[in-house]
Amino acid sequence: MGTTFGVLGISKGLRKGLSELGIETPTEIQEKTIPILLEMETDFIAQAKTGSGKTAAFGLPILMKVDPKAPNVQALIISPTRELCQQIGKQLFKFTKYTDKIFIETVYGGAKIDVQKSRLRRPTHIVVATPGRLLDLVEQKAIDLSNVSTLVLDEADEMMSMGFKKDLNRILEITTAKKQTWLFSATMPDHVKKIIKTYLSPQAKSIGAELRLQANSDIEYMYTLSTMSAKFKVLIAFLKSQKNGRGLVFCNTKKAAITLSNLLIDQEVNADVLEGGMRQMERDKAMRSFKKERTRILVATDVAARGIDVKGLAFVVHYELPLHLDEFTHRSGRTGRAGAKGLTLCLAEKNETSKIRFFERNLGMKMKLIR
Ligand code: AMP
Repeated sequence: MGTTFGVLGISKGLRKGLSELGIETPTEIQEKTIPILLEMETDFIAQAKTGSGKTAAFGLPILMKVDPKAPNVQALIISPTRELCQQIGKQLFKFTKYTDKIFIETVYGGAKIDVQKSRLRRPTHIVVATPGRLLDLVEQKAIDLSNVSTLVLDEADEMMSMGFKKDLNRILEITTAKKQTWLFSATMPDHVKKIIKTYLSPQAKSIGAELRLQANSDIEYMYTLSTMSAKFKVLIAFLKSQKNGRGLVFCNTKKAAITLSNLLIDQEVNADVLEGGMRQMERDKAMRSFKKERTRILVATDVAARGIDVKGLAFVVHYELPLHLDEFTHRSGRTGRAGAKGLTLCLAEKNETSKIRFFERNLGMKMKLIR
C-alpha cells in the first residue's frame, strides 16, 4: 500500500494545493525521496525519469525548507531546456497556492534578459534556470547566489549530452561550499558519474527509482468519462456488451461495494460481493461460488481481493478509480493472466483524467477512451 503526503511530512497548505491538481498519492520516487530530503541535510542522487513525479519529489522538500521571510534566493534548480524550466516553475507555483508567499522565478535563454533581470530584483526565493542563462545573469551581477543552500541538477544526463558540461562545472564551483546538491538523472553515464564524484559528498544518499511496474501487454486498458450518477448505467451497458464474460468490479469502500452489488442484483445481474467486513465463512462462500462460475460478477474491495486467483476472467472494472498506483496494478492483474487476453475498464469521472494520465505514464501504456 502506498503512503500519503501527510505521512511523508508535507504541510497542510501544500497538500491542499497538490490535491487541487489531483495529486493525492505519492509516486514511488516521491515516497522514497521526500523523507530523506526533508529530514537530512545531504547531497542526494536519484535515478528517475520524467513522468515519475520527480519535480514534486525535489520541489516539495524545497518548498518546505524555504524561509518565506528571508527575501533571498535559497534554492536553485538547473534544468536543460526552457520548456522544462517553465514546467517546473509552474508546478512549484501551483503547489504554493495555499502556503505563505514563496516567490519563484524562471530564467532561460532565448527570452529577453532585461526582463529577467528586473524580475530578479524583486524578492525571490527559488530560481529555476537553464545553465547558460544563469551564468549570463551571474556575469551581469543580476543574481546573488550566496544564500543558495540547495542546488538541484535536474535531468543531469540530458544537460551533459546537450553540451552543458562546462557550464555545470562552473555553477557547481561558484555556488557556496555549504550547499547541498541533489542530482536527478534518468541514466547514469560516465560523465554524470564524474560530476557526482567531483562535486557531491561521498556520503551522498542515493536511490534508484527504476520503475518496477510494467503494463501487461495482454491487457487492453480502456476508460470512460461520465458523472458519478451516470456510472451505473455505463456499467450495465458494459456488462451487456460482454455477453457472458465474467469479471471483477472494484470499489474503494465496503459500503460502496455492498450498495453496488445490490443495485446489480436488482437489475438481474448475477452478482455477489466480497469485502473485508464479511465473516471468513461468507467470504469463502462468495469466492467458491465465483470460482465455480456460479457467480458472474464479483464486486470487491481491494483488501478482500488481494491474492484472488481466478482463471478465465474476461475483465476488471474500476467502478471507482483506486487511490494508489499499486492497487491499480493489482486489480488489473486479475485479468489477462498467464497469456490470456484481458480487458480493464476505468469508469472515471470527468475530473479524474489526470489520474488516468498518471496511470498511463507510470505503467508506460495508453488507455483507450470509450464513448
Ligand atoms: P514529473 O515527473 O515531475 O515531470 O511529473 C509528471 C507529471 O505527473 C506532472 O504533471 C505532475 O503534475 C504529475 N504528478 C506528479 N506527482 C503525482 C502524483 N503523486 N500523483 C499524480 N500525478 C502526479
